[in-house]
Amino acid sequence: TKPTVLVTGGAGYIGSHAVLALLDSGYPVVVIDNLTTGFRWAVDPRAAFVEGSVDDDDLVRDTLRRHDIRAIMHFAGSIIVPESVENPLKYYKNNTVASRALIESAVLCGVPHFIFSSTATLYGIVERWPIREDFPLQPINPYGKSKLMTEQMLADVAAAHPLSYGVLRYFNVAGADPQVRSGQSTEGATHLIKVAVEAATGKRGHVAIFGTDYDTRDGTGMRDYIHVSDLAAAHVDTLEALMANPSTNYTMNVGYGTGSTVLEVLDAVDRVTNMTIERRIEPRRAGDPPILVADNSAILATLPWRPKRDNLDTIIADALAWERKLAEREDQAAPV
Ligand code: UDP
Repeated sequence: TKPTVLVTGGAGYIGSHAVLALLDSGYPVVVIDNLTTGFRWAVDPRAAFVEGSVDDDDLVRDTLRRHDIRAIMHFAGSIIVPESVENPLKYYKNNTVASRALIESAVLCGVPHFIFSSTATLYGIVERWPIREDFPLQPINPYGKSKLMTEQMLADVAAAHPLSYGVLRYFNVAGADPQVRSGQSTEGATHLIKVAVEAATGKRGHVAIFGTDYDTRDGTGMRDYIHVSDLAAAHVDTLEALMANPSTNYTMNVGYGTGSTVLEVLDAVDRVTNMTIERRIEPRRAGDPPILVADNSAILATLPWRPKRDNLDTIIADALAWERKLAEREDQAAPV
C-alpha cells in the first residue's frame, strides 16, 4: 500500500489536480484547506478533508499523526502579484510565515518529504532564455520574495533535519482535468487563457492584449504554458523520486520549454472555439516580463515525467470544457 500524502491547498486550482493525480496513482490523500479561495466541492470525495490553515499547529500536527502522513505537498498560499504589492504583509504571513509553521510541524512529526509550489516569478526579469534553475533569483514583487524565502527555509531545514524536499518552479499553468473533474474556478481571473475562455463562454466581452511592442516574434508577451494535469503528474513523480532517494533534494522548473505569444494563444482560442473573440490592444501591464520560457532539461533528466498534453489547442480545449461546466453550474445556481 502507498503512503498517505497531505495536500495543503487541495481545494484550489493546482492542488485539486494534484489530489486527482495522487488518487489516480493509488495514494491515499488528506487535504487541508481553509477555503478562503478554494472550494470544498473541488476536492475529490476519495480524499479526506480537514478545514483549517497550515499555521494551525495543533490541527496540522494532529492530522499528520492521525493519518501517518509520509509526505506533504504544499500548495496553500496567496498568489496575486498586484495584491502582494498592495498588501505585502498578507503575503509574508500566508506564504512565508505559514510555510514556516508547516515545515516545523513536518519536522516535529517526522514527515520525511516536502514538496513545495514555487514559481518562475523568482527569476524576475531575465536577460536570457530559456531559463535554467541556476539563473539568479531576483523576484521583483513581494509574492515572489515570499516564495523565495520559503525555498531558502526548506534548504536550511533539510540540511539540519531528516527532511528532503522537492521545489517545483511553475511556469504558466493553464487548462483543466481532461475528464472535467476540476479546473480553474476562482473568480476575477487575470490569466490569459482563463480570461480568453471566459470571453468564449460570454462571461466577458473581449480580451485585452497588454502590449504589442515587446521584443518577441510578434511583439506580444511570450510564456511557457503548461497543462495543469502535466504539472500535477510532475508532483507525483517528484514524490516518487524523493521516496527512492531519501536524502536527495530537487529544485526543478516545470514547463514545456516552448514559448507562445499572446497572439498565438488568442489565435488558438479562436481556432478551438470556432469563434472570433474581440481583442483590444492596451498598454503594457506593469511588471510583465517580455519572455518567460523554461529550460526543462533538469526535470527531464531527473524524473520519468514527460509532458502528455503539451499542445496549446489541447490546453485551451480542456480549459474551455471546464469553463462551460462552470457556466452550467452558475446557471443552475442562479435565482429564477
Ligand atoms: N496578457 C494579456 N491579456 C490578458 C492577460 C494576460 O495580454 O488579459 C498577457 C500578459 O501581458 C503576459 C501573458 O499574457 O504577456 C501571460 O500573462 P498571465 O497573466 O496569463 O500570466 P503571468 O505570466 O503574468 O503570470
